[in-house]
Order: sequence, then structure tokens, then C-alpha cells
Amino acid sequence: MPRYVDCPPELASLFNEAEDIITPLFWDFKRDPEKGAITVSSERYVIYRGNSMAVALRHQLESVLGPGAGVAIYQIGKATGAADARYYFEKTGIQDQELKLAMGPVIFALGGYATVKILPESALIPNEDFLLVYDHPNSYEAEAHIKAGLPVNKPVDFLNAGYSAGWCSEAFNLKLEAKEITCIAMGDSQCRFVMAPCSQLRNRVKEIKAKYSL
Ligand SMILES: [Zn+2]
Repeated sequence: MPRYVDCPPELASLFNEAEDIITPLFWDFKRDPEKGAITVSSERYVIYRGNSMAVALRHQLESVLGPGAGVAIYQIGKATGAADARYYFEKTGIQDQELKLAMGPVIFALGGYATVKILPESALIPNEDFLLVYDHPNSYEAEAHIKAGLPVNKPVDFLNAGYSAGWCSEAFNLKLEAKEITCIAMGDSQCRFVMAPCSQLRNRVKEIKAKYSL
């Protein structure tokens, strides 16, 4: 079974292959403080503290955008997820859609966002029937809110939701959106997400909530 991704057995070989491709790239991690630089396989990276990105950024954006702050953070995630996907697809030369998608959760784990658990309702179909149902165990966004002791009455994993939607949209060349339906920062037992084409998302969320009695 894959080391960083929890998935149904029929997807194990796919995620194993993705881990074999991505992991060596991420192990080539170099700090060069004399130049103020960090690189992963010669590509420039920057490190942000999890709490700063999850809590401080949200508070700052809420002060100017109000309830729109979550959407703004989701869009930051979506832009970075899509851009990272395009970069890694070109760097690795991978053409297969499913393998492109499978590299996303591996990058996610190696980047410190969370791990990913793919649930069996998922259907990697390159049309309107695409569906991804997944959890993000050990999410940095939820953990930051819990550690800060913040009262939370809605899911908080906006960047993580956006990143995964951006990555998978690039992999399958679809306009996908993701919605977090339960969140450990609210006291739920997992951070669970539903991803589908925009036109299908509302109904898919209803179906999955009904299935899991959420
Ligand atoms: Zn969450």
C-alpha cells in the first residue's frame, strides 16, 4: 500500500506509482540561507508557518472582506494547486490523467498540508460524473484553529480544499470545485471533502451527506 495516501485497494498501485515519481523530487531539498533560498529539485520554495497561513491570514482577510475571506483563501489554494500541478506535469512528463491526479495527494503530504484518504465513492471519470470524496487527516488548517482555541462553527480548511480542486482540475481538464462538509476544528471526527464538476457539486454534497448521515 502507498505510504502517504490512504486509498481503496484498487487504487493502491496508482498511488504507489505516484509516490515513486514524486518522492525523490521532494527529497532533493536544499536550504541556502546565504542566498535566502530554499529549493526542491532546484525549484524555488518558501516556508510559511502553518498558524500564520491558517489563522492570521484568515483574520486579516476577514477584517477587509468579511465572510468572503474563506472564498479568497480557497482561491489562493486553487491557484497554487493548479500552478503546482502544471509545473509537476511538465517536470515529470506524465500524460496519464489518473496518475496526474494521484501525484496531488503525494505533493500534499510532502508539502505538509495534510495526508489524504480517498473514500470508495470516488469515481475518477473524465466527465460530469467525476467525483472525489476524501478526508484530510492531520490538516494544518484545522490543527491551527484547534491549537489557537478558536470557536468554529463552519469548516475551516479553505486553502486545502482549493488546492485539491485546483490540482485535480488540471489533471482531468475539468472545472472542479471542492467543498468541506465536516471539519475536526468544529468537533467532527474528520475533515471530509466532496469534489465534483461545479454544476454537480450541490447534488453530490447532498448525496454524500445523506450516505454518511452528516
Ligand atoms: Zn477541516
